[in-house]
Amino acid sequence: MTRQIIPVTPAAQQTAIDYRALDVERDHSGTLLDGLQRPLRDLRISVTDRCNLRCTYCMPREIFDENHTFLPRSELLSFEEIERLVRQFIHLGVMKIRLTGGEPLLRRGIEQLVEKLARLQTATGAPLEIALTTNAVLLARKAQALKEAGLKRVTVSLDGLSDVTFRRMNDSGIDVATVLDGIAAAQAAGLGPLKINMVVKRGVNEHEIVPMAEHFRHTGIVLRFIEFMDVGSSNGWCMDDVVPASEILGRIAGRFALEQVEPDYGGEVAGRWRYADGGGEIGVVASVTQAFCHECTRARLSTDGKLYTCLFAHNGLDLRDPLRRGENERVLTNLIAGQWGQRGDRYSQLRQEASAQPARKIEMSYIGG
Ligand code: SAM
Ligand code: SF4
Ligand code: SF4
Repeated sequence: MTRQIIPVTPAAQQTAIDYRALDVERDHSGTLLDGLQRPLRDLRISVTDRCNLRCTYCMPREIFDENHTFLPRSELLSFEEIERLVRQFIHLGVMKIRLTGGEPLLRRGIEQLVEKLARLQTATGAPLEIALTTNAVLLARKAQALKEAGLKRVTVSLDGLSDVTFRRMNDSGIDVATVLDGIAAAQAAGLGPLKINMVVKRGVNEHEIVPMAEHFRHTGIVLRFIEFMDVGSSNGWCMDDVVPASEILGRIAGRFALEQVEPDYGGEVAGRWRYADGGGEIGVVASVTQAFCHECTRARLSTDGKLYTCLFAHNGLDLRDPLRRGENERVLTNLIAGQWGQRGDRYSQLRQEASAQPARKIEMSYIGG
């Protein structure tokens, strides 16, 4: 398919952003920085707060049940609104977009959003990187259409290889074969290199660490182990449920020799390792035990258009209202720049003190994981 590429004016040439009025910091090349000198590079967009699974660590069934009120359609950002905001984020330095949720494949016509975003370029003229994180329940049906729409890469979440364990994690009766079919379809469609996210929860699926490593060795798929995090206020998190990255690595290294791999780019969240025998690569996201806030370049756009500058934030900046009021690009970009400029978030680093605060955090399904 031939695609029309739409360049977005480089930030330096853009007259609309009034940095002086905003009193925000920039580096020598003019890139916007937050209060801790971190640029804005990645944007995660939650396209729906709904999901077809009820993972106990994310949307526990007793809370997200038939009485839970999900956002009505009118409250969701439309694809046009998302595209307009993405253009402003690009002006400010964003190079990578990840579509997430909730379950992004539940959003009707998601391919059309991918197609709109795939036409955009970054401020430096590079193609905008677009990826999507999914539980893969609908992936076998959608992989080809997503590829044709311009999606580059997919990350699939899978927390174990046995149905008993997987169903204990997803609390929905979905079996492992459904997810493996989705993974195969994504590979066949060319949505790779694929990544698999496995959240590890003490006493529930830690025994699946080595079988999962074994299964995905020599497949070209990068398996990433994620420490169970205290996102939201509903998953009953406690430190005893966390299997530290060091222990995860120790279990794998006990079976297969590992070598550390240098990070590809600043801000990469997963520590990278490879099998010494050439079996491929694994990642470990140690968000709890080895916080990486100092290089966090990520913003999040919630399903209803609020900008959050940390996964653990309490409040977001509403961008939907100014959008719908008809504010121009300058106002929108200045709002985002102002919010990023004052950002001082480093929740994971401050976890000990922060977890003592009673404030209600935002659920991951709404803010975008
Ligand atoms: N529904 C999609 C999926 O599961 O892939 C996308 C949204 S989900 C919120 C994004 C990622 O966040 C998934 O890989 C999920 O495993 C991870 N996640 C959710 N809750 C988490 C928690 N409490 N700790 C660590 N990771 C979590
Ligand atoms: Fe749904 Fe993903 Fe959350 Fe599981 S982790 S409940 S699949 S949004
Ligand atoms: Fe980024 Fe917040 Fe996570 Fe730290 S706690 S890495 S600032 S999202």
